[in-house]
Amino acid sequence: MRRSLLILGASGSIGSQTLSVIKDNKDRFTLLGFSVGSRTRCISYILKAHPECKYVCVKEKSKFITYSKKYPNIKFYYGDDGLISLVKECPYEMMVNALVGFVGLLPTVEALRLDKIVALANKESLVVGGELINKMLKAGHGKLYPIDSEHVAIAKCLQVENKNVDKLVITASGGAFRDGKREDLDNVTAEDALKHPTWNMGAKITIDSASMVNKTFEIIEAHYLFNYPYNKIDLLLHKESYVHSLVKYNDGSYRLEKCHPDMKKPIKYALFETLCPFVTYKVKDYHKLTDLTFKDFDYDRFPVVKWAERVIKEKGTYGAVLNAANEVAVYAFLKGKIKFLDIEEIISICMKKNKNIINPSIEEIIKCDKLTRQVAHKLVEKLGR
Ligand code: MG
Repeated sequence: MRRSLLILGASGSIGSQTLSVIKDNKDRFTLLGFSVGSRTRCISYILKAHPECKYVCVKEKSKFITYSKKYPNIKFYYGDDGLISLVKECPYEMMVNALVGFVGLLPTVEALRLDKIVALANKESLVVGGELINKMLKAGHGKLYPIDSEHVAIAKCLQVENKNVDKLVITASGGAFRDGKREDLDNVTAEDALKHPTWNMGAKITIDSASMVNKTFEIIEAHYLFNYPYNKIDLLLHKESYVHSLVKYNDGSYRLEKCHPDMKKPIKYALFETLCPFVTYKVKDYHKLTDLTFKDFDYDRFPVVKWAERVIKEKGTYGAVLNAANEVAVYAFLKGKIKFLDIEEIISICMKKNKNIINPSIEEIIKCDKLTRQVAHKLVEKLGR
């Protein structure tokens, strides 16, 4: 039987690679619906390649009107509300959430509420709503598989060997500025930051990689996915992005996945619900892997990573604040309104201001996101050039 899919964010980097995985496995998957942002040109192409697809959400009302006329047999939606209606009405079994940012949270929660399987590339869902999502999963609502290369590598290692685990070790390529000094970061431009050395990704996540906010998010993501405390999740600099995270065992040995960076592998692992062939390696000491370089992570060079500890230990609305402050700051940086290190500054001020709400409801999380954005926008004005 073929697994029916809904893809949110079909025109982005993960979305289009998911489409190509489906194309290569047509006997296993069928696409029933998708959403796109402003890149609506791909709609015709996707509909042609996937004739069973009958549900599409676009961002703007004008495009909704145009495409509804062009394709009268397809049900179209638009905007944030349309996205939720798509998640509710499309009769899929698995939703691939490849949206970027806070906008991905509600669809994740809604799909789980409907007991669907979620393949999650939107790590912000877990950063902001990890507690809420885990509660739903624990109560038996839906299933969740990550699409993030580091976490998939860890999941594979744990699938092979999950006894006597000491630590989870997330590898970090170091982003665009891994070789410079901290002082050099002061005047870097968006163009500099968008040159990621090993992964080809969207603009937001490439900036998050350069600022290390991406690794901050990934520590939080690992905490919620695998239920390890903050002090059991380490970062390791590894510039080739060839080893995709490691699991350290009590005897000092490691298990790891190594292969060329290719997001199709984690996508497949999620789509096949972990039931696809993969290889992990057990090593006594990863330093002895020839031709590969590893370096201890320098938390003073990238202090933003320390906020992961606050989010994991205090929970509540800290994740929502971290994410909202970062989103506002990153888009302001991309527009040239603030400097690169202002991203850290805006996050830091917002995090310190947070009056934490324990066990927040989804409504309280949304409210906190909105308030933090207001504060962050004011900070952009204040710090802006
Ligand atoms: Mg990653």
